[in-house]
Amino acid sequence: MDITKIIDPLNDAQRHAVTAASTAMLVLAGAGSGKTRVLVHRIAWQIQVEGLSPHNILAVTFTNKAAREMRSRLEELLAIPAQTLWIGTFHGLAHRLLRRHAQTAKLPATFQVMDSSDQLRLIKRLLNRLNLDEEKWPPKQVQWHINAQKDEGIRARHTSETGDPYQRQMLAVYRAYEDLCDRSGMVDFAELLLRAHELLRDNPDVLEFYQQRFLQVHVDEFQDTNTIQYAWLRLLTQDKDNLFVVGDDDQSIYGWRGAKIENLYKFQRQHPNHQLIRLEQNYRSTGTILKAANTLIANNDGRMGKELWTDSGDGEPISLYAAFNEQDEAYFVVERIRAWANEGGARSDVAILYRSNAQSRQFEEKLMATNTPYRVYGGLRFFDRAEIKNALAYCRLMSNRNDDASFERVVNTPTRGIGAKTIDDIRMIARDQEISLWAAAVALVNQGNLSARASNALKSFLLLLKQLADETEGLALYEKVKLVVEKSGLLELYKQAKADKGEEKVENLEELVNAARLFDADTDNEDNLGELDLFLAYAALEAGDMQADEFEDCVQLMTLHSAKGLEFKLVFLVGMEEGLFPSQQSVDDAGRLEEERRLCYVGITRAMRKLYLTYAESRRLYGRESYPRPSRFLREIPAEFIQEVRIRGNISRPAATIQPKPKTTMTTGTYKIGQKVSHEKFGEGIVLQMEGQGAQERVQINFKQVGMKWLMLAYAKLNIIS
Ligand code: ATP
Ligand code: MG
Repeated sequence: MDITKIIDPLNDAQRHAVTAASTAMLVLAGAGSGKTRVLVHRIAWQIQVEGLSPHNILAVTFTNKAAREMRSRLEELLAIPAQTLWIGTFHGLAHRLLRRHAQTAKLPATFQVMDSSDQLRLIKRLLNRLNLDEEKWPPKQVQWHINAQKDEGIRARHTSETGDPYQRQMLAVYRAYEDLCDRSGMVDFAELLLRAHELLRDNPDVLEFYQQRFLQVHVDEFQDTNTIQYAWLRLLTQDKDNLFVVGDDDQSIYGWRGAKIENLYKFQRQHPNHQLIRLEQNYRSTGTILKAANTLIANNDGRMGKELWTDSGDGEPISLYAAFNEQDEAYFVVERIRAWANEGGARSDVAILYRSNAQSRQFEEKLMATNTPYRVYGGLRFFDRAEIKNALAYCRLMSNRNDDASFERVVNTPTRGIGAKTIDDIRMIARDQEISLWAAAVALVNQGNLSARASNALKSFLLLLKQLADETEGLALYEKVKLVVEKSGLLELYKQAKADKGEEKVENLEELVNAARLFDADTDNEDNLGELDLFLAYAALEAGDMQADEFEDCVQLMTLHSAKGLEFKLVFLVGMEEGLFPSQQSVDDAGRLEEERRLCYVGITRAMRKLYLTYAESRRLYGRESYPRPSRFLREIPAEFIQEVRIRGNISRPAATIQPKPKTTMTTGTYKIGQKVSHEKFGEGIVLQMEGQGAQERVQINFKQVGMKWLMLAYAKLNIIS
């Protein structure tokens, strides 16, 4: 037995945590100090040295990517296979429990998981049905409210009406939403957690089974557990002192979604004999990056307090780039990445991190234009794309005819002559008789009141699904998906639609078949559940991990939230502007501002060797132009760690100042950056940058109609617009 592999790569404190006898343990330590490493090595230790079966271990992480990484690191450490070890996200594990015990959990065996955009659509439909005005009852707010209730473990029936009309109405909506989900066999993300908790709480035999199975329970990123997740862990472990958690209060970034830092205190209170271990050496980042992060986070109050040091030397300074606008920002970042790759750096060691998903588009465009491979995690995930959702909707309907969201989605996609009037009629029947849209459609056909054309169109849809279900019976998963893609007419539809990115959509559909082929139900399927249902749930839960070849060397794009736990040699933290980061909603709220600062701490500490910070002096986002001020977080990093970048030597851009500053007024003769100009062919535009001198002088202009162009000044014949 080779235990050196398990304990050699650890420092003393880490080794202590890994090898300690079974006890409740909290490893509380800053970023990059080896918490995740300790967790993985402890599992390996328990299996290899203490002789525990992988079957008896449960490990919880925060993202699917992290879960996969953990499993593969474990397999490297272990001499025996670890398939029977349960490792996954809270949502993934809850889903697995519910599939195994669907009936006990009072769910139909074919229940479907809906992601948050499906949920939002369902809520919109519900509000409409209840005749509630979306202006007064913004669907997103309703969604937030419902999820927040569920995260706290509160069902509609637990709440009694108060005199407050708003509360009463919201409660009615919640109740109606629960009914609708129950009737159609739909489960949202928050419901997964709540229902799995209720399953264990209300069924002593089920609970006992899992308590006896999971002799050791490990949780990474514990600071971001919410009430229901903690209650779930508590049920499984009770007072047995077999719970091992690692976390960092400074990296709690899901408060807005119900995460409770207080769970760290609760854990300590509820396990009076727990061991607390602190790790203080950071192995990830350079001294400069680490000191910048430490100074920034010191601005928060009420921290648990931790020391973090490194012996890796200061490394390079942090670079700060003040971009003229968001396009210039993307241009700068992509050029730096190209330089990195040209010098032999791996693209997969590079991450572009942003606060909000909408920011990715600019970077994607520039990366595409330069043929630089990249992957976006989160955001418009592979499984969120319209063509993929359409194909999956057919699959879902095959599995569960009562899935109303899927019915609406594809009843007339591709168009088969089912008009808005017919669909309205279907909705009406569904609403009056409280039945699913599918059942309502069948009823409508049977009534025989439809015109022959409408009736035939609707019949053809009903028949199509029946055929799909019949013909796919007994086929392998990927053959099923393939048949659906073809027979539904979707493939043909996108093949025809050349103009509208049809080709890309066809490729995506092919990729879906491929994903189904690669889908490994084995690790996920001890009980031979329907493969298709597992695949559909996987699609709903997965965060965009299928979109490019996992092993292709490509730049990683993601929000700061999804970067948690990861590390990259080169990191670009972009959009460092007030109103964007920190977000507008947080600037007036001290609690939320602190959470934004923790998010910034998470971002900075992802960088191993080199960190770039960028902001734009003007930004067009969500269709609006703004002139934001640089983020306050930039000011909170001591200037000695920061070096301001001037991009092209022959243009002296005014030094980017951190203070709010007057607009740039640098000129070369007649033109200045930000100048509005017009061109006889390209129309109006704005000067972005200039380079070269004399006859070689060129300007880059962003034209309203044709986008960015470089023009030779000597020939361009520009008119200045005052
Ligand atoms: P985060 O808070 O960001 O999740 P973490 O505390 O989980 O960070 P890890 O990801 O486990 O930290 O470790 C950070 C890096 O340091 C990893 O590359 C890991 O392999 C390395 N590392 C951890 N411990 C040691 C050690 N004792 N010797 C060398 N490298 C180490
Ligand atoms: Mg970690």
